[in-house]
Amino acid sequence: MNATQRGVVLLISGPSGSGKSSICRGILEDERVVFSVSATTRSPREGEVDGVHYHFLSKEEFERRIRGGEFIEWAEVHGKRYGTTRDSIEGAAVAGRAVLLDIDVQGARQLRGSYPRAVTIFLLPPSPAALEQRLAARGTEVSSDLELRLRTACSEIAEAGAYDHVIVNDDLAAAAGELRSLVVGHGDRRPRHDKELIRSLVEAFGVGR
Ligand code: ADP
Ligand code: 5GP
Repeated sequence: MNATQRGVVLLISGPSGSGKSSICRGILEDERVVFSVSATTRSPREGEVDGVHYHFLSKEEFERRIRGGEFIEWAEVHGKRYGTTRDSIEGAAVAGRAVLLDIDVQGARQLRGSYPRAVTIFLLPPSPAALEQRLAARGTEVSSDLELRLRTACSEIAEAGAYDHVIVNDDLAAAAGELRSLVVGHGDRRPRHDKELIRSLVEAFGVGR
């Protein structure tokens, strides 16, 4: 990555369990890329560290920050609130680093307005069955929350075509490699879509039924 490529904003969305955290992990070992740590009202999972994975806030504190105008975007996802503060993006941009954001489709819509040059990436699971199996195997949600996440996946996937790039996370190393090549060559904003593949996955998830 050269100096002129730094300071870029990369935004990744995808259903819960599509593998966003997994594919971002490798790229974040590069010190020129920084993760924008979001705030959330959901409880920490085992192993999640406050200030590293999320800023874990009470509902009241999140409300206070909304009223204080601290969020550049925020949304309710699976019944909890999630948001990105202005500081988390701009602090990284000042340091001349590429900023990687993991946000949902509603947040992406809001950020496209503020950062029209942001490179947007949608991560698709290879099939509904794989998504369900991966979420269940992760074991971080009780079954009602897991079902809510699977239902939400259908409406999220309907928006995949609005992103600059779509990556299908079948093989993790291959998907991570695709993300890396986008981060390294992120001057390239030409849309890369395999329209037929997206169409068949959208259909498989029963979107619009
Ligand atoms: P997200 O951040 O999008 O919610 P995670 O990165 O937590 O998703 O991935 C969900 C689960 O699926 C995790 O347990 C992860 O280890 C697993 N996983 C991710 N990618 C793959 C893959 N390509 N093949 C098999 N399992 C995967
Ligand atoms: P999880 O609870 O699995 O960590 O995340 C649930 C969803 O919230 C994911 O779709 C993730 O992309 C989204 N999310 C995480 N941080 C933010 C954020 O700051 N803003 C928005 N709008 N969504 C977020």
